[in-house]
Formats: sequence, C-alpha cells, structure tokens
Amino acid sequence: MSIASNIQRIKSTLPPGVTLVAISKFHPAEMIREAYAGGQRVFGESKAQELAAKYEELPKDIEWHFIGHLQTNKIKYIASFIHTIQSIDSLKLLQEVDKQAARFNRNIDVLLQIHIAEEETKFGLSMQECEELLQSEVFASLEHITVCGIMGMATNTDNEQQIRKEFHTLYTFFTELKKKYFPDNRVFTQLSMGMSQDYRIAIEEGSTMVRIGSLIFGERTY
Ligand SMILES: *Cc1c(COP(=O)(O)O)cnc(C)c1O
Repeated sequence: MSIASNIQRIKSTLPPGVTLVAISKFHPAEMIREAYAGGQRVFGESKAQELAAKYEELPKDIEWHFIGHLQTNKIKYIASFIHTIQSIDSLKLLQEVDKQAARFNRNIDVLLQIHIAEEETKFGLSMQECEELLQSEVFASLEHITVCGIMGMATNTDNEQQIRKEFHTLYTFFTELKKKYFPDNRVFTQLSMGMSQDYRIAIEEGSTMVRIGSLIFGERTY
C-alpha cells in the first residue's frame, strides 16, 4: 500500500470535522512529500531539531504540529513556524512558548496535554494541574498563545474497555473545561485523542483530531 492510499483509506473512515494529523516523526522528508502529494497538509513531529530541518526542506504550506515532550530551551527551533503545540504540560512551558511567539510577533495555537493513561512514563498535566493553570494570573496575561483544546494518550494495552474508559474521561473533562473556562469561545474546540491502534475507539468517544503515524508510514526505526 502506498502512503497516499493509506491516507485516503483512513480519511474515508473519519467523520466530517475530524482532523487527521499525519505523524511523520523518524521518517525521512521524502515520505512526507509522498503524503503531501496525496493531499495531506497537517503533519506532527516530536523532536524540535528534526522538525526544524524538515520545515526547511518541505513545502511551506504544511501545518506543523508538535506532539512530543518539549524542553523550554528547544522552543526557539520551532517558534517561527509551528502552527500548534499539542503537548503543553506545564505553565512554565506555556509561558516560554508565549515569549518565543512574541519574539516573532505571531500566535501559536496550543493544546494542553492531560495525563489519562496508567503508565507513569507518559507526560501531561493532571486534571487538577490543568485547572490550576487555567485559573492562574500568569495564564491570563499571555497574549501570543491560543488554547484550542486538550490532548491525551490512552494506556498502551489490548484492553479495549480500559482505552474506552480513558478516552471517555478525557471527553468529559474537555466538556467541563469548555463550559467552565471557555463558554463563549469559538476556538476551544479540539479534543486530540487517538493513534494508529486506538483511533477508532477515540472517534466513538468524541475525538476531533487523530494523530496517526504507523498506519500511514509503516513502522518507525529508531
Ligand atoms: C508517535 C505518536 C503518535 C503516533 O503513533 P502511531 O502509533 O504511530 O500512530 C501519536 N501521538 C503521539 C503523542 C505520539 O508520540
């Protein structure tokens, strides 16, 4: 199967309004070009320097999303062009993103990453930390970021019930946040959940954005 046909196949199963983010991390630029030729414009990467190199090399109308753990000292590599950072997991990081966006006189869209999985290795804010962030005075003062929603990863397990439960928890939290903090806001709309193994469940549980890598590009070699 070609990359373009993989994308078409996946897209045909997505309900209208659900965005496909093609996760191209660890794959070469030429594979991204193939996806681009097939019409894909939204791509996700997890390493700042790798992303900066690909940005230089590839068409400029690609919408780049950052999905990995981001260290504050790496933001500078992507601040001039990144469209969305999906992996905001602290107020400190968000402040630094705001500062770097200001340097380029631009806005960066962000999603707050929420920890829902059982594994401790996965990054993200607890629900309480997320609310504390949204209530803070520092957050209220940021002018170069826009919070467009939340992102989360389910536990890596074959237990479908558990995955479904975690996605449902995230959906419920998303709905509560919207009501409480963004009632008249038209941009807090994105619930990013679902990867190659679990995106069908994520969609049934209300995902608006799926992040799919291996189903499109094949297995990654690290
Ligand atoms: C790597 C990654 C994905 C894509 O994973 P696949 O299993 O290849 O679809 C999605 N989201 C995040 C946060 C990732 O790090």
